[in-house]
Amino acid sequence: MPCSTASFASCRRRASALAALALFALAPAHAAAQGATTPLPAADRPLQVLDPAFIDRTANACTDFMQYANGAWLEHDTIPAAYSSSGVTRDMSDHNELVVRTVLDDAMAQRASQPEGSTPRKLGTFYASCMDSTAVEAAGLAPLRPWLRDIDGITSRTRLVQEIAALQVRGINLIFSYSPAADPHDAAHYMAWLSQGGLGLPDRDYYTNSGAAADSTREQYVAHVVRIFRLAGEQTAQATRDAHQVMRLETDLAKASLTRLQQRDPAATDHPMTTANLAALAPSLPWPRYFRSIGLTAKVTRVNLAEPDFVRRVNVLLRTAPLAQWQAYLRYHAIAESAPWLSTPFVQQDFAFSSRFSGAKQLLPRWKRCLRETDGDLGEALGQAYVARTFPPEARARAKAVIDDIRAAFGQRLRQLTWMSDSTRTQALGKLAKMREKVGYPDHWRDYTRLVAEPGPFILNVARANAFEWQRVVNRPGAPVDTTEWGITVPTVNAYYDPSKNEMVFPAGALVPQTFDPGADDGANYGSLGASWAGHELTHGFDDEGRHYDADGNLRDWWTASDSVHFTGQADLVVRQFDGYIQVDTIHMNGRLTLGENIADFGGLLTGFDALEQALRRDGRPGLIDGYTPAQRFFIAYAQSYRVHTRPEELRTWVTVNPHAPDNWRVNGPLSNMAAFAQAFGCKPGDPMVRAADSIPHIW
Ligand SMILES: [Zn+2]
Repeated sequence: MPCSTASFASCRRRASALAALALFALAPAHAAAQGATTPLPAADRPLQVLDPAFIDRTANACTDFMQYANGAWLEHDTIPAAYSSSGVTRDMSDHNELVVRTVLDDAMAQRASQPEGSTPRKLGTFYASCMDSTAVEAAGLAPLRPWLRDIDGITSRTRLVQEIAALQVRGINLIFSYSPAADPHDAAHYMAWLSQGGLGLPDRDYYTNSGAAADSTREQYVAHVVRIFRLAGEQTAQATRDAHQVMRLETDLAKASLTRLQQRDPAATDHPMTTANLAALAPSLPWPRYFRSIGLTAKVTRVNLAEPDFVRRVNVLLRTAPLAQWQAYLRYHAIAESAPWLSTPFVQQDFAFSSRFSGAKQLLPRWKRCLRETDGDLGEALGQAYVARTFPPEARARAKAVIDDIRAAFGQRLRQLTWMSDSTRTQALGKLAKMREKVGYPDHWRDYTRLVAEPGPFILNVARANAFEWQRVVNRPGAPVDTTEWGITVPTVNAYYDPSKNEMVFPAGALVPQTFDPGADDGANYGSLGASWAGHELTHGFDDEGRHYDADGNLRDWWTASDSVHFTGQADLVVRQFDGYIQVDTIHMNGRLTLGENIADFGGLLTGFDALEQALRRDGRPGLIDGYTPAQRFFIAYAQSYRVHTRPEELRTWVTVNPHAPDNWRVNGPLSNMAAFAQAFGCKPGDPMVRAADSIPHIW
């Protein structure tokens, strides 16, 4: 799963505001388009790991370092209408998308000459069916009519459960999710997870919060559901009744859902049980029939019921909520989640609603929307060609060398921590030694033999791709975990740490300028790739969530009691620091929700700086570059790696749904805790970028 979903909280980057609405974005495939010859497009302005032109030299580095490092850029930046933010991630994604576009254009042009059933032909066919807007407009809602007829035909609770299963397999987010994931206590094997889900708003809090803003969002949501039903042909009175039914059901689900904060505690979602116990806990759901309906043929005797109270509530609703209410709920989700790939009125309505959370003013061009969906569904089919055009083996080797320096520096820090007992230290060092890393691209590309892509309505290809992915993983419970699998695609500008695999993953799309340039100086590369990417992901293995997993990815307490007490006491200082910052308007940040990311940022910086010092001792210390010392360049490159300009709508959404701090605090927060930063820029006690010694956390 991509790291924008709940499965990897430990990403470096925030997901888009509406990632929560796109729960079934799929991962990847095999064998790339061959014979690509289109030349690479030239970027408007080449990105650099450190760009001196972005620096606001009139700002005081000791007052607001984010402004100092990025202010000149920010002053002249305008967020493009189709985006919720601009900055590093958008610039790098734009660049990557131009490359992927050449891959897809080639695949589309050459599809007819490729062998029937070959992956290059499927890739070209898939993208072409998305780009064929004439066919999409002509089809309107027609491709979904058979699904809607099936929903209308539900006459019993048994049929209801079968229909829920059928829609889930096509990628529709309903009630709860079934997913095979690592067994928390035997991470080498998959087990079946059942997790809360099924909401149309981005978070359960939107249903339960009080106040005028929350009331207004709920009213807007109901109005949106009415419009979706109207577009599907319902009369206004019926559409209004149905929309209120949907809202009532989702509100019931939301009230029984854990908050994001509660979900950060691994113990809160650790409830392994036998299928017999599951049947006793939720007898209204005919589990054997449900499992058969989703295609699960493997013998499953145990499941992890992530949120038991949620499923207890579902059990009641399945028995008591009127069938008509369930039908309205299924109909809404089937249409609304398909809306981006239906005709223009549906696309426009979907955008109008989602832009409330992102602030974007217009739709992305069709090729970008199609490209992102194709990358999400067949990412490993285009990944090889992307790598061939952008990421030579030397770049991979150099990036790996920086990441390995970070590992060594973190190990050195672990050995020198004064607060940690030797027994915990030995375990921590063992975890570090066993931590895997994936850099650039997979060693084995996914096999798309069983994927079907046909000319015709694109939404059906999306549903087929979802079904392909479902069938690829559905029977995994009990099987050994595939340690070669990647959770994000190669052109993605992101990275993640997966605690159950104890691995960090850096795709090629993130290992280009502005993140990293084999030709850049050590100060710049260690500030950006070193601290902001590698140090950050590595520290996730030891943040407030990651520390509960051992070297093999099992949920097991390997800490002495006194070391745990020290950790949580220091983590509380991090919480207090970030609780004090303003997110947007007058809204404060949530220091507990963002704790793991803030620990990772600070640990990444400390580790990255140590690695830079070691690299300079090894490689030689250069003089000033652009007028800056290596240490200064380290901190500027770090701050520029968070160069971003975000719409307020997105910031308001993030305070609820995103575990990352706003980027200005990801820079000014940890840097104001760092003596090396104060020293590099001559900051004095009392300066805003120098926090009082007794408020500074000592963790990693
Ligand atoms: Zn992170």
